[in-house]
Amino acid sequence: MQEPATFSSSQTIELFDRYVIPNYTRYPICLVRGEGSHVWDAEGKRYLDLFPGWGCNILGYCPPRVVQALQEQVSRLIHVPNTWYTEAQGLFAEKLCTHGFGKAFFCNSGAEAIEGAIKLARLHTAEGRHRIITFENGFHGRTYGALTATAQPKYQEGIGPLMAGFRYAPHGNLDAVRELVDQETAAIMVEPVQGEGGVNLPPEGFLEGLREIADENGCLLIFDEVQTGMGRLGTWFGYQKWGVQPDIMTLAKGVAGGVACGAIIATEEVAPSLRPGMHASTFGGNPIAMAAGVATAETIEQEGLLEHVTAMSDRYREHFTALQEELPIIREIRICGMMIGLDLTIPSGPAVKRCMEQGVLINSTHDTVVRLLPALNITEEQVDQGVEVVTSVLRDMAEDQ
Ligand SMILES: *Cc1c(COP(=O)(O)O)cnc(C)c1O
Repeated sequence: MQEPATFSSSQTIELFDRYVIPNYTRYPICLVRGEGSHVWDAEGKRYLDLFPGWGCNILGYCPPRVVQALQEQVSRLIHVPNTWYTEAQGLFAEKLCTHGFGKAFFCNSGAEAIEGAIKLARLHTAEGRHRIITFENGFHGRTYGALTATAQPKYQEGIGPLMAGFRYAPHGNLDAVRELVDQETAAIMVEPVQGEGGVNLPPEGFLEGLREIADENGCLLIFDEVQTGMGRLGTWFGYQKWGVQPDIMTLAKGVAGGVACGAIIATEEVAPSLRPGMHASTFGGNPIAMAAGVATAETIEQEGLLEHVTAMSDRYREHFTALQEELPIIREIRICGMMIGLDLTIPSGPAVKRCMEQGVLINSTHDTVVRLLPALNITEEQVDQGVEVVTSVLRDMAEDQ
């Protein structure tokens, strides 16, 4: 069904051309409505979205429980600052900490969660410890602290000086971390699975090794779970998949089912170091985001989505493993839960446009990687339909070689 759109895509694009800063490369399509893994453009064309909301729409578009919770919340209270208590913030903190650990601080985005985590690590370790070790091809956001943590030169060019006190290690290399860590190190920070950097899985023993190094050296271990958290990997949080307990974890993207929300989770021991007056966020923990977060957690619980993620992940793996045998342009398949990367021997960018023409939305990252971040509640049929289109596009691209 098509919702009547006021403007055509091209009319909206004209507005953007005149009034919106052109810092994004956008596809020439205006989206107007979504439901589950489907989204419609202003012309009424339907797309199957295998990358809904850049990972934020973890339950797809307009998940019913989230919509209902938002409607109820919006008519009672839209914003209350953190000088008061609200039930919604207490309940969402309870959800995150009982499925995870420790205590929560709320903010509005991934980068903001990273900034808070860096401050908390420096405050907690004190005594001259300030250094943060992060990993090449990691991604932690675009504000100065988060961007300095993001060890990718292409994002750091031309905007220096960056923040002091960061060191970078090659991903997966424990020896390099041992070399870098010292008495000035406050924390080691890593994504359990690197997302933007190409869906890079941790080599065996890597996360465990980081925990050991942190313990031996008296520094903290921070997991950036902005992308891996909230069921994405088939566990509530990525750390649980490897059984490695971080001291601090950052959350955002899908944590509130598509509503802007970020969080820091810190252990009982570390949490009190974020003392009153040392950190704050005006919109952080607002009732709208909190109500959406609670409804998102309830949906994952009540619909058994963690098990579903594991089943759909296996289904993707079967499909793509068979395809890899057929197509040598697929160099490597990297799948963990609903994080899916196909590393090609050729640029992956053209696959995005070709899939879009056939009504399927995907992402290309790190030059050669086709990346999918499907909704946790994607159906078997949708997995199969999406794979069919990706398959035909990759076959065409292989033929064009
Ligand atoms: C997207 C992302 C961020 C940044 O989140 P924003 O909300 O865009 O600031 C940080 N870390 C990871 C792992 C991410 O995937």
